Amino acid sequence: AQTPLTVTVTGAAGQIGYALLFRIASGQLLGGGRRVKLRLLEIPAAVRAAEGTALELDDCAFPLLAGVDVFDDPKQAFEGANVALLVGARPRTKGMERGDLLAANGGIFKPQGEAINAGAAPDIKVLVVGNPANTNALIAQAHAPDVPADRFTAMTRLDHNRAIAQLARKLQVTVGQVKKLTIWGNHSATQYPDVFHAEVDGRPAAELIGDRSWLADEFIPRVAKRGAEIIEVRGASSAASAASAAIDHVHDWINGTPEGDWTSAAIVSDGSYGVPAGLISSFPVVARDGRFEIVQGLDVDEFSRQRIDASVAELQEERTAVQGLGLL
Ligand code: NDP
Repeated sequence: AQTPLTVTVTGAAGQIGYALLFRIASGQLLGGGRRVKLRLLEIPAAVRAAEGTALELDDCAFPLLAGVDVFDDPKQAFEGANVALLVGARPRTKGMERGDLLAANGGIFKPQGEAINAGAAPDIKVLVVGNPANTNALIAQAHAPDVPADRFTAMTRLDHNRAIAQLARKLQVTVGQVKKLTIWGNHSATQYPDVFHAEVDGRPAAELIGDRSWLADEFIPRVAKRGAEIIEVRGASSAASAASAAIDHVHDWINGTPEGDWTSAAIVSDGSYGVPAGLISSFPVVARDGRFEIVQGLDVDEFSRQRIDASVAELQEERTAVQGLGLL
C-alpha cells in the first residue's frame, strides 16, 4: 500500500475540528484512496478532549486511517506534515480591540510557522481557517522562510460555496450548474463575492440576474454576513459547513479543479489585479499539479473594483498592524 500522508490539524478539539476530522479520516480530504495519518494539536487544557475524539476515530474503523496522535507542542505536531489545517485561533471576545486580537493570534501563528519551517515535509500545504485567517496565514508564512510562500493559504472557500448556493437558489438552478464565481479579498465582512464572470450552463449569470440592486442589497451582504445568520438561527457558529469548505479547498489543491471552472482561495498575491504583492488575498484560482494559479485576464469593472479595493485596503491595514506589533 501507499505510504500514508500526514495531516496536522490544530484546534482539533473545537467545533470545526470535530466536524473535520471524521471526513479527513474517511478519505475525503486527500482523495484518490490515499491513506492518512493524523497529528492533532491542542492547547494543554483541550488535549484530553482531542484524545477523546481520537478514541472515536478508532471506533469508526476507517480503512484509510493509519493512526492518530495528539500533541500540545507545535514542533512535534507539524513533524513530517504534508498538509496542515490551522483551525485553532483566539476568537474575538467582548471588548477586545483589534490590536489585542492580532497580538493574541500572533502568539499562536508565529510559533506554528516556525514549527512548520523546522519540521514539515518538503511538500507541505497549509490552509489557515482560524480567524483573522488571511493575516494569521501571513504571520505563519513570514516565520517559515524556508518554505515556498505559495504553500500558505487561507480559506475563502466557505464564502465561495455560500455564494454559489445563494446564486443557485435565486436563479432556481442546481449548484452544479453555477461556475466561475469568485470571492475577492479578505475573509471578513469586506469580502467581495463577484458574479460578473460567473456562468450558469455557459450563460452569463449577471444577465440572468438582471437587476444590480439584488446584488448590492441582498446577495453581497447575505454572503458576507452568512456567518452571523447561522449563529442567529442555529444558536452556534457554522462548524460543519466551515469544515466542509476546508475539505474542498485542500482536496482541490491536491487533486486539481475541474476543467471549465475555478474556485476561490486566499493565496499570496503576485501583484495580479492590483493586489499588493505579498498580501494573502482571495482570488479566482485554478489548481494544477498541486499548485494554485490565479486566473488571469478578467475584466474588473468599476462596481467590482471599488469593492475589491476596499477589502484589500483592510488586509493592508491588518498587515500594517501586525508589522507594528513586530510579528512580521
Ligand atoms: P471553532 O472550531 O468553531 O472555530 C475555530 C476557528 O475557525 C475560529 O478562529 C473561527 O473564527 C474560525 N472560523 C473560520 N470560519 C468559520 C466559520 N465559518 N464558522 C465558524 N468559525 C469559523 O472554535 P472552537 O472555539 O470550537 O475551537 C477552537 C479550538 O482551538 C479550541 O479547542 C481551542 O482549544 C483550540 N486552539 C488551539 C490552538 C493550538 O492548537 N495551538 C490555539 C488556539 C486555540 P471566529 O471565531 O472568528 O468565527
